[in-house]
Amino acid sequence: MNTLRPRPTPGLGAAAIGVEEEALVLDVLRRQELFRYYGNNPEQPPPMAALLETEARALFGTPYALAVSSGTAALETTLAAAGVGPGDEVIVPAWSWISCFTAIVRSGARPVLAEVDASLCLDPREIARLHTPRTRAVLVVHYQGAAADMAAIELAAHRRGLFVIEDCAEAPGATYRGRRLGTWSDAAIFSFQHNKPMTAGEGGLIITRDSRIYERAVRLHDLGQYRPYHVGITPPREIAFSGGQARMSELTAAVALAQLRKLDQVRDHCRSLKARIAPRIMQLPAITLRPLADPDGDFGFELYFYARDAASAATFRDRLDARNVWCQRRTGTYPQYHRDYLKSGLAAHPKLSPFRDLPNWPATGYRPEDFPVTEDLTNRFVALPLGWRFTADDADHIAASVEAVHAELTL
Ligand SMILES: *Cc1c(COP(=O)(O)O)cnc(C)c1O
Repeated sequence: MNTLRPRPTPGLGAAAIGVEEEALVLDVLRRQELFRYYGNNPEQPPPMAALLETEARALFGTPYALAVSSGTAALETTLAAAGVGPGDEVIVPAWSWISCFTAIVRSGARPVLAEVDASLCLDPREIARLHTPRTRAVLVVHYQGAAADMAAIELAAHRRGLFVIEDCAEAPGATYRGRRLGTWSDAAIFSFQHNKPMTAGEGGLIITRDSRIYERAVRLHDLGQYRPYHVGITPPREIAFSGGQARMSELTAAVALAQLRKLDQVRDHCRSLKARIAPRIMQLPAITLRPLADPDGDFGFELYFYARDAASAATFRDRLDARNVWCQRRTGTYPQYHRDYLKSGLAAHPKLSPFRDLPNWPATGYRPEDFPVTEDLTNRFVALPLGWRFTADDADHIAASVEAVHAELTL
């Protein structure tokens, strides 16, 4: 009888939660100190958020790191810290997470949507095409574990004096040309939401080499304040301004710290699984693996291939699913121009919308027909997620299933 192999348990950081997270969370609870800036001893603030930042600085080799309440808060804080605001434009890939767009709108600047290339990351050539005198920044998204082509992006952006932000929410621990993602730009953000490679349920992090960005981010995330802990890191130079509140709690920091310490282990496990699958399915003539700017730097938690068209991608998904291969999820990402908040062109208040002066909304640059490459690529990929609980046998089953379905479809 032909019995199906059971589906492996999905998940990355969340599936790796264990005694390390328990120990650090218990430590916070037993000390009864849940707020990062003060606890029971006025001389000694609680350690978890501070340790998370210290270890992140060491891991990434950047002088400044700031823990915040979410990846979205990190994006909004970083854009504001960089001075992005009304009248400015920010180049962002059309294929990106919701908050890559909404954070720019909330800053008052106008998101300018760019095509992705076959790596599903920003096509570096788009910077020259979309650049105007109003362009202030480029928001690069390292999509699902793999780097955008940072050398080309940095060259195109810095030649034009643009601020570059890397969104590493989906690719902490991944590298490009041997250097960690997040260290190729002026500032980078991370997310610790549940689905991300490292998680604390919610949470985020900003890293930067720039002390001014750091100070402004600290003030933006803590009601304009710059507390003694931060003075110890770098003295204040900015005049105070109104900030928001996006601080991280000690409980969140405890989980994030344990997860940061196992990030490379989770990555290496995913890479070893991917290494069993990719060389096999690369041989198959009717499909193409997602080409990466740096294949060696990939986190390896999701393997993408392109079928010839949308119909054969759908057939691939159905038949792989019937073999108990996870593949139906088309990820939470879909193009910004298909989302309701873009179709309305609205912000919380009409005068805050960066689109209010554009006639005939959706204007050129915000309609599906303006993105033939992104439309084509994102309609015909199949995504194969891998995870911390997947075994080598699970990986071999995935590879054999793709080979078998490929043979069925091309006979
Ligand atoms: C998840 C994600 C975010 C937002 O992170 P949250 O912590 O959920 O706010 C931002 N950018 C990208 C690319 C993401 O995948």
